[in-house]
Formats: sequence, C-alpha cells, structure tokens
Amino acid sequence: MSNVEQTLSIIKPDAVERNLVDKIQKKFKDEKLIIVKTKKIQISKEEASEFYKVHQTKPFFDRLCSYLSSGPIVVMILEGKNAITENRRIMGATDPKNAENGSLRKLYGISIDKNSVHGSDSPDNAKKEINFFFKD
Ligand code: UDP
Ligand code: MG
Repeated sequence: MSNVEQTLSIIKPDAVERNLVDKIQKKFKDEKLIIVKTKKIQISKEEASEFYKVHQTKPFFDRLCSYLSSGPIVVMILEGKNAITENRRIMGATDPKNAENGSLRKLYGISIDKNSVHGSDSPDNAKKEINFFFKD
C-alpha cells in the first residue's frame, strides 16, 4: 500500500533567524517529501498556546509558547509516503543532543527549546495541525 500522507512542519524562530529555511526545505525535498503549501508568519502567544495545548500542564509550556511566538516561523504542509513518520525521522529526537546524525535537529538544533523544527506526531494531530494553520 502506498500510504501517502500529509503532515505539518514548522521551521521555528531560531532556524528562521539563522537563515536556515532554504537548507531545511532542501532536506525535505531530498528526502522525497513534497512541500504542498508554505508560508512565513508570526503568531501571538495566545495562538501558540492553542497550538501547543496538549502540553499545557508541562513545566516548559509557558516558555515554549513565548518562544514559538517570539519571531517569524515558516509553516508547511509536507506530503509523501508515510510523511508523518518520515518527517519525524528527518527531524531527529526532540533534544538535539540525542538526535541522530544527519537529522535536522542534530544539524541545526541549539537546545531542547531551540530545536529548529516541529513535526506532527500522529495522523490525528497532523489533520488538526494542518487545519490550524491552513484553514482554507
Ligand atoms: N520541549 C522543551 N522541554 C522539554 C520537552 C520539550 O522545551 O523538556 C519543547 C521542545 O522544543 C519540543 C516541544 O516542547 O519540540 C514539544 O515537545 P514534544 O515532546 O512534543 O517534542 P517534539 O514532538 O517536538 O519532538
Ligand atoms: Mg510533539
């Protein structure tokens, strides 16, 4: 079965700020994911809190939402075979210290906070997150 999926990817403020958008987008294309839609935006802290609400009880929640709203981000719909798990593999582990060699977070992540990219973690969340940023 082909299992073509769509997933949401975010290039976080630390990576946009360091001019890494083209390099990160090239990596997705090299890994056979199509960038179906992309836009550069800045969101409010309230919007970030809504986006990350699954983490609202975590100790890092407030810092996370302040950070995601601190500067421009690039949001993308990625499409391809097993796109959700493929994107998670391409990103690498949450903490760049533990990320696999060659993964985006290993290459570009600064810390567990500033880990350069976000990717949906399940088909359900991929749908919700795509709809959050691309309602039309
Ligand atoms: N995060 C953090 N401290 C932690 C765990 C997570 O700052 O101890 C941040 C990190 O930037 C991560 C985001 O919260 O990307 C969401 O956490 P999650 O566990 O969903 O990791 P991800 O799905 O991004 O790998
Ligand atoms: Mg997550």
